[in-house]
Amino acid sequence: MITSSIRYEYPLLKVPSSLIIDDWSVVCLNEQGEVEYKKMRKILLGLLDLGVRGKLSLVPCIVSPRGEILGYVNKGIKGLPDNELAETLRLVREKAVEYFDITPEILTHSFVVDIGSNRTLSEKEWEWSQSQDLETLTKYIAKALEILKDVGVVANGVTSPCDFGREVEGIYARAVLEAEKKIYGIKLTWYFLNVERCSRRVTPRLMYFDKEKREAVVSIPSCSRDYLARSENPLKSIDNWITEDGSKGRLVDVCRNKSYIVFHTHWWSIQDEESIRALKEAITRINRYFNVVWMKCSQIARYFAATKTTKYEVLESNQETRIILEPLFTCENFTLSFEVNKPIRKIEINGRTLIYSTELKPNTWTIMDQRIYLCFNLSKRTVIKVEY
Ligand SMILES: [Zn+2]
Repeated sequence: MITSSIRYEYPLLKVPSSLIIDDWSVVCLNEQGEVEYKKMRKILLGLLDLGVRGKLSLVPCIVSPRGEILGYVNKGIKGLPDNELAETLRLVREKAVEYFDITPEILTHSFVVDIGSNRTLSEKEWEWSQSQDLETLTKYIAKALEILKDVGVVANGVTSPCDFGREVEGIYARAVLEAEKKIYGIKLTWYFLNVERCSRRVTPRLMYFDKEKREAVVSIPSCSRDYLARSENPLKSIDNWITEDGSKGRLVDVCRNKSYIVFHTHWWSIQDEESIRALKEAITRINRYFNVVWMKCSQIARYFAATKTTKYEVLESNQETRIILEPLFTCENFTLSFEVNKPIRKIEINGRTLIYSTELKPNTWTIMDQRIYLCFNLSKRTVIKVEY
């Protein structure tokens, strides 16, 4: 009876939410083509102040609009004092990683670099990517990861500049995995490529999964366009995400259809006080109207992959039920539910009593409308024993 009613839920029954910040790096180029770092550092500090979790791009190689390579974040950048580069990278390593996954936005977010000769080609990365094979893409992505590894960052996923890899997405997904394995030994990875502005329901997607090798790649799409991009009136623009009364907006629509709330903006969309204040207000509204849990993209990928790949077996008798989960990926706050029609004496997870709570918290169980909800950290093999 329990068997048919088992369901994997959102973690802690809260909607997984994530804020994606694109295009950021240690410097930007101003209108005169000069390297500026103070602005980028200020934006970074502003992002840490938001209190949310998500993803931040760190573009590894800085290229001028004419295609001249100005430098790499691990080697130094023309026009940027080394001590200032070190200070920004320290903030990334010591502060930003608490809130955000740090990813490359492949190598330059503009011209392709020929890795052999270290020269730029005339093509842009997103144009070039659409006709590459697994080997070339893997090598290129690995180069970007290697640079971030060299500055002490674990980039567990990647961001696609523009629509990098869209026409060869299956190959691209595999290339991300191969590159992650090569540079970091990471076997559960993710990428951000897709923006689903119109879909009714937006969730991550398991793009690749190998049961034997315990490998998976998850695509994490954004559910909305960047409403702060080139906005004349940022505070008005965020109504497109969520209105002040929480009744309308793209995030409201997708959330009603049981979507994840993952949305994106760019550093250049939030470079003035008014825009960052508007983004803060959007976050306040999300926290006020939705029961969300802010997660890094890697946490979302892990949770999603766990719910899609964990098989279970149920053994039932009159006195007890055992649910045996065989996960391939561990994850925190794994939440599952099932129906019951008799009083429960006790629930044990791997031999340890799970505490009852009136409201679901980590490592507890609760009951609502004849449904039991449990939340626990999913380890290698988990036996849930329900005693009547
Ligand atoms: Zn971008």
